[in-house]
Amino acid sequence: MKRLEVDEAEAGIVAGDRGVLARAITLVESRRDEDRIRAEELVTRLLPRTGRGLRVGISGVPGVGKSTFIEALGMKLVEEKGHRVAVLAVDPSSAISGGSILGDKTRMPRLAAERRAFIRPSPAADKLGGVARRTREALLLCEAAGYDVVLVETVGVGQSETEVASMVDFFLLLLLPGAGDELQGIKRGIVEIADAVAVNKADGDNLPRAKLAAREIASALHYLRPRVDGWTPRAFTVSSLQGDGLDDLWATVVEHRALLERTGELLQVRKRQSRRWMWSLIEERLVADFHSHSRVAGRIAGIEAEVANGTVSPEKAARTLLDEFFGVGKP
Ligand code: GDP
Repeated sequence: MKRLEVDEAEAGIVAGDRGVLARAITLVESRRDEDRIRAEELVTRLLPRTGRGLRVGISGVPGVGKSTFIEALGMKLVEEKGHRVAVLAVDPSSAISGGSILGDKTRMPRLAAERRAFIRPSPAADKLGGVARRTREALLLCEAAGYDVVLVETVGVGQSETEVASMVDFFLLLLLPGAGDELQGIKRGIVEIADAVAVNKADGDNLPRAKLAAREIASALHYLRPRVDGWTPRAFTVSSLQGDGLDDLWATVVEHRALLERTGELLQVRKRQSRRWMWSLIEERLVADFHSHSRVAGRIAGIEAEVANGTVSPEKAARTLLDEFFGVGKP
């Protein structure tokens, strides 16, 4: 395909052209240096058009009902509330399995066919990660293209929740009624970064169990330090399949946003997001340079193997590689 120039991308995105938006996201996902330069230029030009959207992170283990939930909520927002909705996915498991379990358009057929919605599958991660960074830039492009609600879907694997929580304004954790705490990431502290928790599949025989779970979670949430002053995280029951509870949940997202705006906290949140983004970019670049460094690259595999079989300690190995990188003791 013809190379996407910055002028063309900017004009297309501002005009709400979804084809151009999709190509521009491919550009910001690229690691090639010449693409990075154009991507940076594009994001910089579009920045003044970003920041007004509602950014909502949605997390939960596979099977909890994320795609069903996003489809139901997304359709409601588009049809009843007049929003334009973008869905982005952060799926670190794609780095491990080679295939993504998120962001597949066929998981949300109605929303995918909706003119006022845009669904972007998870970028294929490579071993250097960076999926979250690319998602953040994609989020900005979506806002600039006029999507005033951006839903960022992530799966309970690795660090993705924390990274997603740091790029959204509202973080929602979906839980199953009655599944183990361990399984659902509760023990790993994911509940602690949530602004709301929704027990999904609260329908049929599950309903009593779901209500009980939501009550227990609500009382536990009371003891957590809130992410935002003045906000106590709430627990809900929802049925994504039947659409129950979605109105209350969305009203909560809107109420939370109003609080952020009223107290000036939104500005602080955006500042924190920007600082954090800068550091992610620095870390990613340093790690990439490290891997491709002439003296380091050739030694990584050998030293990794020595660490794995226990002949060299991780500390010593790290120091050896870092010394190579920084040229310590070299003329
Ligand atoms: P994901 O892996 O988190 O995206 O989960 P899916 O949205 O694919 O849902 C997994 C399964 O749970 C599917 O069979 C859905 O039909 C089912 N499911 C999702 N939401 C609900 C719900 O609210 N109630 C019931 N009973 N089933 C649901």
